[in-house]
Amino acid sequence: MQNDLVTEKVIIVGGGMVGLSLALMLAKQKIQVQLLEAIKYPIFESEGEIPYHSSFDARNTALSRRSVQIYQQLGLWDLLQVHATPILQVHITEQGSFGKARLVAEEEKVESFGQVIENAWLGRVLLTEVRKEALIELIDGVKVTELNQDQDQVHIEANRGEEALKLSAKLLIAADGRDSFCRQALGVGVDVHDYDQVAIVTAVQTSKPHQQVGFERFSPLGPLALLPLPGEYRRSVVWPVKKGTEHEWLGQENDQHFLDALQHTYGDRAGKFEKTGQRFCFPLSQVLAHKQAVGRVVLMGNAAHTIHPVAGQGFNLCLRDAFVLLRFITEQLEASEDIGQPEMLLAYEQSRLEDQKRVIKFCDSVVRGFSNSNPILKLIRNTGLVAFDVIPGIKPLVANYAMGLKA
Ligand SMILES: Cc1cc2nc3c(=O)[nH]c(=O)nc-3n(C[C@H](O)[C@H](O)[C@H](O)COP(=O)(O)OP(=O)(O)OC[C@H]3O[C@@H](n4cnc5c(N)ncnc54)[C@H](O)[C@@H]3O)c2cc1C
Repeated sequence: MQNDLVTEKVIIVGGGMVGLSLALMLAKQKIQVQLLEAIKYPIFESEGEIPYHSSFDARNTALSRRSVQIYQQLGLWDLLQVHATPILQVHITEQGSFGKARLVAEEEKVESFGQVIENAWLGRVLLTEVRKEALIELIDGVKVTELNQDQDQVHIEANRGEEALKLSAKLLIAADGRDSFCRQALGVGVDVHDYDQVAIVTAVQTSKPHQQVGFERFSPLGPLALLPLPGEYRRSVVWPVKKGTEHEWLGQENDQHFLDALQHTYGDRAGKFEKTGQRFCFPLSQVLAHKQAVGRVVLMGNAAHTIHPVAGQGFNLCLRDAFVLLRFITEQLEASEDIGQPEMLLAYEQSRLEDQKRVIKFCDSVVRGFSNSNPILKLIRNTGLVAFDVIPGIKPLVANYAMGLKA
């Protein structure tokens, strides 16, 4: 290794949103990373090209203010910001009801309630930076198929076609998604709750400009979220609907039917729904690992906790986990201690439980509370789309509701 300051090596399995972000965090601390990803990443040939791959598909991610700060600290925000749209207002309404909540960033004395970025752009920016980073060895098109560990090291085997790869490190971070192979290889069990829903995801064009307003509309079909995207008239749609009904909305032949349903549900708040992109569908379940640290392996991202997207919290939580893990690893390095020390990983896990439990409980109750007519639950579920913890105005608003001060 050319860099004298480089001290340690970490293996990351899984190069989705979490794996790529973590690799860049570690490299910034002068830690060498071997990042293994099952899919073969695309080569970006033209300026505006954003092909879909793994994590980086048709979805859009609402980044909380804390996530933006983390990317700022990594020196990545300037690159991401050009593809992101701030949410300056949130309007929450319910079909068939006159009640509405309106949150305005300026009134809450915050710059914005978060920033929306297309996953494909997030992927392109992260991957481009990873490829430039000398400390990260990106090994893509490789599926990890064996994992075991002894007292000093974790050992993995991965297959790239005929070629078998054997790697070892003191610390392995498993960011290999909801169905994590690493988690299974470690024998870690999971609690699974199937919501019996799928999220229909796409981008639409409306006749009125979005003016950086996010809408959440509760309808009998499911809670529809419309978020502003780059381009004055483009908005992202996330619509969790009952599993088994998705065929009604998917496919080009259903474009007009889908636009009509949006129009019917939203009325004219967004003007006319003029065009829709291809719809994609994502099954929704909650998958929680019983343990996140086993020996020298730590589970990260969806491998540790996959949650319902209604509150736009999943990745934001993962990024906070990753940032805290980085702090623990850095402290070990500074103290010239073992960066894969099992006790340190257990301490990391312990330190994250409170935030994780709070977010998981919140998201789950937003989904389960949807059919409940309790007004406070209603408000909480209604405001669920944007990051609850980063909106100063939400808590007093909920409190006002609780005290009966606001209808
Ligand atoms: C519809 C929807 C909308 C969402 N919106 C938001 C939002 O607005 N805000 C928010 O914060 N969160 C949101 N989320 C949650 C967010 O998408 C997840 O938190 C995030 O994708 C987790 O990323 P990950 O890297 O952990 O997992 P993944 O994206 O699943 O990545 C795992 C990677 O590991 C690779 N892999 C798997 N097995 C192996 C193996 N054996 N060897 C090598 N590589 C392997 C896979 O190919 C993949 O690239 C949303 C989720 C959904 C479904």
